[in-house]
Parts: sequence; C-alpha cells; structure tokens
Amino acid sequence: MQYFPVFLNLTDRRVLVIGDGEAAERKAGALRRAGGLVSTAPHFGPDDHALLDDCALVIGADAPEAELAALSAAAQARGIPVNIVDNPPLCSYITPSVIDRAPLSIAVSSGGAAPVLARLLRARIEAMVPPAFGRLAALADRYKEAFRERFPEVALRRRKLEGALGGRVADLVLAGDDAAAEAEMARVLAEAPDRAGIVYLVGAGPGAADLLTLRAQRLMGEADVIVHDRLVTQDVLDMARRDADRIGVGKSKSNHSLPQDEINALLVRLGQEGRKVVRLKGGDPFVFGRGGEEAAALAAAGVAFEVVPGVTAALACAAGAGIPLTHRGDGPAGDGAVRTLTLATGHLVGGALDLDFPALAAIGFSGGTLAVYMGLDSLPALRDGLLSAGLDPATPAALVERGGREDQRELLGTLDVLVSSGPAWSTGGPTLALVGAAVGRQVRRLASN
Ligand code: SAH
Repeated sequence: MQYFPVFLNLTDRRVLVIGDGEAAERKAGALRRAGGLVSTAPHFGPDDHALLDDCALVIGADAPEAELAALSAAAQARGIPVNIVDNPPLCSYITPSVIDRAPLSIAVSSGGAAPVLARLLRARIEAMVPPAFGRLAALADRYKEAFRERFPEVALRRRKLEGALGGRVADLVLAGDDAAAEAEMARVLAEAPDRAGIVYLVGAGPGAADLLTLRAQRLMGEADVIVHDRLVTQDVLDMARRDADRIGVGKSKSNHSLPQDEINALLVRLGQEGRKVVRLKGGDPFVFGRGGEEAAALAAAGVAFEVVPGVTAALACAAGAGIPLTHRGDGPAGDGAVRTLTLATGHLVGGALDLDFPALAAIGFSGGTLAVYMGLDSLPALRDGLLSAGLDPATPAALVERGGREDQRELLGTLDVLVSSGPAWSTGGPTLALVGAAVGRQVRRLASN
C-alpha cells in the first residue's frame, strides 16, 4: 500500500484553496461541508506565504504550474499536507473517491494507478450501501454510550452490536421504519446478554451472482453459517463471508443427500445455538423450494426466521430467452391476450404426473402461460395430459436450461417437439418448460458487441 488512508477532522481548522476554476470551487465546497474554515485565492505569489499560517490542509488547482509548484514546496516545507489536483508529483497526499453516507463515509483509491477503476468500484459500492446506512450509523452513534455502559465486555458488546446493526435493526432502517428500528435497538440494549439466533430463508435466484437481491447479498456477508442446496451455484456461494461455515444439503432428484426433516432439524439446532444462519435456496424459497416447511419447523421450535425472496426460475428463463410471460393483446377486443401465468411442478409422484390437466388446458385455450418446474422426466405425461384435455398440439412450447446464467440454452417448438428432442438436447442442467401462446412471441436479443 503506497498511501496510508486517514480521515481528517477539519472542524474549525483553516484550509487553503488556491486557484480560479471549477475544480478549485468543487474542492472548496467539499471542505466547507466537512466543517473546514476555507480561505480561497486565485493565485499564489512570493508574497502570499502568510496564507499558509495555521493551515491544516492545502489544495491547489486551476492556476499556473509555476505557482502551484511554489505552493506545493511552501506547504511541504511547513509540513502541511498539500494536494495539487491532477498533478501527483506535486502532491503529498491524494484524495479518494468518496461515498458519503454521513456519518458514514467510504473512501476508495487506486493510489493514482487507475482512477477510472476506483470510480467504477465506487459506483458498485454505492449500490450496495443504500443512503439509509447513514441513518443506521447515526442511530448506532446515539446508542454508543449506552451499549458501552450496559455491556462493558468488548466481545459481548461487539456481538450485540453486530446482531443489531447487521440484522433486524438494519432491516428496519433499510425498510424506512426508523421508529421500529429505534425500538428494536432499545430492546437489544435491554435484553439478557445471551444472543438469539436467526435463520434467513434466502432465495439465491437462478444462479448468476448478480441476480441476487441486495438483501441476500448483505445477509450472506453477515451470516456465520450458510446452508445451501445443490442448485445454488459456486458464483453465488462466493458472495458469502469467507470464514462462514458452509453446509451443503445437496438435493438432486435422485440423490436426496439429507432428508427434509433432517434439514429442518439442522436449521432449528443452528438457530437455537444462537447462530446467524442463511439458508440459501435456488430461485425463490417459496416456489417449489420447501421454504414453507422449513419456516413452519422454525416457527414451531420458536426460532426467529425471515424469508428473502429470489428470482424464480420461470422469470429468469423467460427473461433470458426473450419470452414474455403475459401479453396485452393486439386487437381492439384484446385478441391474443395472455392474462395468466401458472407455475406448476412436473415432479412425478409414483411415476405419474398429478396435475389438473383440464384446468391447465382451459387456461391455455383462453390465453395463459404455463411454467413447469422439474419437468424434463415428465414431459411425455405433460404432453399427453394437456393434449387429451384438448390443448391445440400446435401451441408453442420451450425448454430452457440453466435460465438466467451465461450458458443458458433454449429449445423451441411444440410439446411434441420437446418430447421427441428434449432428452437428447438436455445437457443435465436445471430445466424449465414453458407452454402457451406467449412462447411464440419470443423476441430475439440483438447481439451486443
Ligand atoms: N425454488 C426454485 C425451484 C426449485 S425446484 C425456484 O424458485 O426457481 C427445481 C427446479 O427449478 C428445477 O428442476 C428446474 O425445473 C427449475 N430451475 C431452477 N433453476 C433453474 C434455472 N436456472 N434454469 C431452468 N430451470 C431452473
């Protein structure tokens, strides 16, 4: 590290800005906002050295090079940190790219090596740290003394604050309910010193890390244990805290490595041990994800839990394939409108597909889209059921494999085509079937360069 980062307290300190232009003005404004007593002058000449008296910081910009060089030398001779904008050789310090969430500030610097990269990174961090974090930091500040008194032992105090600021209090502030956050903070302050665990049932989306929600990403960064399915990709798991325990309870259809009731028991036990658990599930936890069973088990055991939604496969597959799931209709009477979306499971029970085919086919006639999860093995049964209930055999249908990921694939046709070509086409990734008139409205992506 070539530069040592510090945050300067400039309250009521004199600072000098030399230069006549936009950059100088911008710097003067930022310094004033930080509480500095800013003097400005357009030029710096041999008779101006008294301007440096009692200065804590000097900035130069938009002035002739010789003046700026003299300014830099004079400041450095007095040991005053000096920055000449866009002129590293004349600087004794450099200024970072800043994300201001007062009282929280995040500073990013590439040490002058790649300012553009630092700015890109700053934009990313900005998206991860919404403005509400400023209010969260202010709330923490108001409670700082009270926590210090109530929990004098550092480790316990830290655990308490981590639990509150990384958990429910943060969630409430981020949701805009500052009054409830304040009450929760007061409750944590008052509660008995032992920490209660919590289990977050988190939707991990279709597998691409950047389709995680910001909330999922934050919780993964805080959890001390991650319990995940086989559907959750390595890209997503890489977002978790490095030192978090990871427990794979991998479920593939032929290989249930942990039965559901054992997974439930595991989550309950971890919660009771006071752990902060993220239970990661592919897609959305409440769409064919058994999230309801796990929530019920946790509730029954009195373990706190929260559900965080994720992008479910039907949405990711449709978006990736350019297949709209609904359609407004073309004609004056709304002809060709697709007004319903049905999510169904193609999971075979005792070798049979137990779906209400007349109802599904009826939706298909009048305009509806059917998304079938876990459907590759049951495609013949799905086709037979729908067609014998009267669905038009020409109805468009598609298979989408690894939807929402870089290596997404699609097979378009009719149910007959999917049945005859699907098995050979499949490469074994998770696959969703889409059926209905809307599938015929696929909009091909324009290749980006
Ligand atoms: N909770 C998940 C669904 C779990 S069931 C969700 O909301 O998406 C597992 C089935 O989901 C798979 O058999 C497959 O049909 C579908 N699926 C999950 N991820 C998928 C993906 N990336 N592409 C296509 N289908 C997917």
